[in-house]
Amino acid sequence: MTDTIPHWLTKQADLSPDHPAIEMNDGTMVTFNELRESSQRFARKLTYLGIEKGSHVGILSTNQIPMLNAIHALSYLGAVGVLLNTRLTNDELNYQLKDANATFLLTADSLKEQASMLQVEKIHSFSDIDVLPEKKAILETELNLDAIFTIMYTSGTTGFPKGVVHTYGNHWWSAMGSALNLGLDKRDKWLIPLPIFHVSGLSTSIKSVIYGMPIYLLEKFDVKAVHYALMEKGVTIVSVVTMMVQRLLDVLGKASYPKELRCILLGGGPAPKALLERAKEKNVPVFQSYGMTETASQIVTLSPTDALEKLGSAGKALFPAQLKIETQADDSIGEILVKGPMVTKGYYHKQSANEESFQAGWLATGDLGYLDEDGYLYVVDRRKDLIISGGENIYPSEIEGVLSGMKQIKEAGVTGKSDDKWGQVPIAFIVKEMDVTIEEIKEYLQTRLAKYKQPKEFYFVNDLPRNASNKLVRNKLNH
Ligand code: ATP
Ligand code: MG
Repeated sequence: MTDTIPHWLTKQADLSPDHPAIEMNDGTMVTFNELRESSQRFARKLTYLGIEKGSHVGILSTNQIPMLNAIHALSYLGAVGVLLNTRLTNDELNYQLKDANATFLLTADSLKEQASMLQVEKIHSFSDIDVLPEKKAILETELNLDAIFTIMYTSGTTGFPKGVVHTYGNHWWSAMGSALNLGLDKRDKWLIPLPIFHVSGLSTSIKSVIYGMPIYLLEKFDVKAVHYALMEKGVTIVSVVTMMVQRLLDVLGKASYPKELRCILLGGGPAPKALLERAKEKNVPVFQSYGMTETASQIVTLSPTDALEKLGSAGKALFPAQLKIETQADDSIGEILVKGPMVTKGYYHKQSANEESFQAGWLATGDLGYLDEDGYLYVVDRRKDLIISGGENIYPSEIEGVLSGMKQIKEAGVTGKSDDKWGQVPIAFIVKEMDVTIEEIKEYLQTRLAKYKQPKEFYFVNDLPRNASNKLVRNKLNH
């Protein structure tokens, strides 16, 4: 028996037709009924173009209502959306479009010109689609939880991006797991400052439909716009990455957020302890979480009741998920393995990656971590970035965290360098916040890091190598 549920948007539009589904910062508001109507119209226009069940359709867009219409429209047709990062180069986009077998590309109006250079035959902007006639189509009334909803590529931080297949069930269970952890409140309004082409933004857009909860959508991250929304717009939950928390706390200064703001969900990368402490001092409810594209958003989250006691931990696996650490010998740190119905069934036609990553239903994440005596997860670093020096394991993110705690340092990247004596030694790349000398940095590290972890070389740089998801790419750190 296959599991089917009613189409989620149709269902929510039936249950709460006049309830707000999307609020934009320009004041635009869309109800669930309007979202259903506009998405179904969009689906009939796509039918006119020849898009049908099983078509693979690229979507290249910043956060905006037509992008959500496109995503829902494809689900009404049983077609598969391939969500593309707007910051990729044309070569990278061409690779993903081809790899995912996309035959159509739908783009935001502002990106049409760039998109016209891409190697897809049929490219249509949202406004092009708007003026098309509608063609009668049989729209899906149910969603099969095992069917493919979207393909989305990993960030490419450790290698070539891989196309993660998300089923409707992955999103359904992600929404269930999150609700069982954070709880649902009638007043909830979830702010999305992160792109919908990433899993955090996409999964929140779907949670909105499943919960009947409005999202407050920003076209792109802007610290002032996020601050304003948090202060004035009744936002209760917001998803962020580390850099955003830093900037938001700076803007907040001595003020405090309204008490309706119950959760600042932090994910996507390491969270330096100094930052978490700063948030704690200001009574700002930052919840650490851990997840990846493959897990359809967070799979481990620190629950509100434990947030203060377990600072630095990513928490426990969500209710429908499991977590274990695969350790070697007597080391407590090992690879993080996860399992659950929100975890992808695999990468799109990447058999070798699938064989490598999936074992008996468990996904080997490529991340290292450990569990404390109460079973709370601490994420340590990526396995590929581990530095082994004289037989000791060194985790670059620990060193980066200490360095970025120094007020003269804006950010730091650490990688290993071959060394005749030790095998490898850590070296650091520093972006200054204000004037500082290497001697001062060394002095700062004396009492904070064991000798073998102290970088042997320091380089001042203007910025660190980052990918299109703004993540530090350590294997590109060089001088
Ligand atoms: P690729 O898989 O192509 O190398 P990526 O892993 O950066 O890229 P994403 O799926 O965007 O692609 O990111 C997920 C990764 O982000 C996790 O595997 C982990 O390394 C990192 N991450 C997420 N949450 C945390 C966290 N709380 N602490 C540390 N790292 C985290
Ligand atoms: Mg990854």
